[in-house]
Amino acid sequence: MSVQHDPVQRADFDQVMVPNYAPAGFIPVRGAGSRVWDQSGRELIDFTGGIAVNALGHCHPALVAALTEQANTLWHISNVFTNEPALRLAHKLVEATFADRAFFCNSGAEANEAAFKLARRVAFDRFGEDKYEIIAATNSFHGRTLFTVSVGGQPKYSDGFGPKIQGISHVPYNDIEALKALVSAKTCAVVLEPIQGEGGVLPADLAYLQAARDLCDEYDALLIFDEVQSGMGRSGSLFAYQHYGVIPDILSSAKSLGGGFPIGAMLTTEALAKHLAVGTHGTTYGGNPLACAVAEAVIDVVNTPQVLAGVKAKQQRFKTTLEHLGEQYGVFSQVRGLGLLIGAVLSDAWKGKAKAILDAAALHGVMVLQAGPDVVRFAPSLVVEDADIDEGLARLERALIELTQA
Ligand SMILES: *Cc1c(COP(=O)(O)O)cnc(C)c1O
Repeated sequence: MSVQHDPVQRADFDQVMVPNYAPAGFIPVRGAGSRVWDQSGRELIDFTGGIAVNALGHCHPALVAALTEQANTLWHISNVFTNEPALRLAHKLVEATFADRAFFCNSGAEANEAAFKLARRVAFDRFGEDKYEIIAATNSFHGRTLFTVSVGGQPKYSDGFGPKIQGISHVPYNDIEALKALVSAKTCAVVLEPIQGEGGVLPADLAYLQAARDLCDEYDALLIFDEVQSGMGRSGSLFAYQHYGVIPDILSSAKSLGGGFPIGAMLTTEALAKHLAVGTHGTTYGGNPLACAVAEAVIDVVNTPQVLAGVKAKQQRFKTTLEHLGEQYGVFSQVRGLGLLIGAVLSDAWKGKAKAILDAAALHGVMVLQAGPDVVRFAPSLVVEDADIDEGLARLERALIELTQA
């Protein structure tokens, strides 16, 4: 049983797609574990993980089984009805975290949209209409809806779309004094990524997150952690807040939560959740059985001591070799991050060349990401084989040699 498709090529992208992306020159057609094959049959090692999404690599048997079983059972039923996979997934997330309640949606931006709306609604209900200000960090990334680009600290993503959402201000990340100076009785929420992902793979200082927690308590504001990129095992803990031991009031998750199937979640306490009463918020697809069945399989595999300990061991393997490459070729000044969210910061001589490095790497058979122009980012499968790490980094070295000699 095979369907005939008309042949398509990379050039078709420029013919039929909105040009808001600039995809690589090859088209991946198949993946298994941490390997991907393109249309020509060329094999690549994947250290991008679909931008920190494919937590268990490509076509992990447990996820394929969960997806196909659910595909033969029930795909979508809407929130006019609840469904078994959504309830099972919510139980597992609640059991594994600070949260008592889950709201499901389809992306990280939607999870944050729900988080920000909840924070504003709680402040409105408890303190009236003047408490609506949201404080976020410079260089942060929270998604691409108008609310989430307004909260995000990168004007290049929010400028040029008309008036932004009001009542949002930004402070430098990891700067306790700046946060202290801005927080007030009007603050309804402080929003932080425990590790800034898009902003350059920059982990928070423990003292900063603790200070944010204390300031929120002092000013009756809510602490929101955006764990869309840092969550679901990527840090070596199920969520990065557990690594730090600083507990938020609201947490957003997406990316790795679905392991490649779109799903987002907002997690919170019972006392806060009740402010999103019947009719206050919703989404048609959110919590649909297919997405929740896959996410349930992801959490079953990821939230185990073996996988989480493996993340820390594999981070060490990456870090050792990347630091060595950094010295040998003078390319990286620092290797930072948490777990398998790793940023190799380019040295002065290489500043601005992250894109050139990832293009060269792809030509040598390894896919890597950038996080801004000055950081090469790695967000591989949490169960990437040691042999794939070694081979992928050997291919990266060949790319660096070529770039050094050019
Ligand atoms: C990717 C990301 C988002 C947005 O998620 P989408 O699924 O693209 O909407 C939000 N916050 C952080 C920290 C992210 O890394």
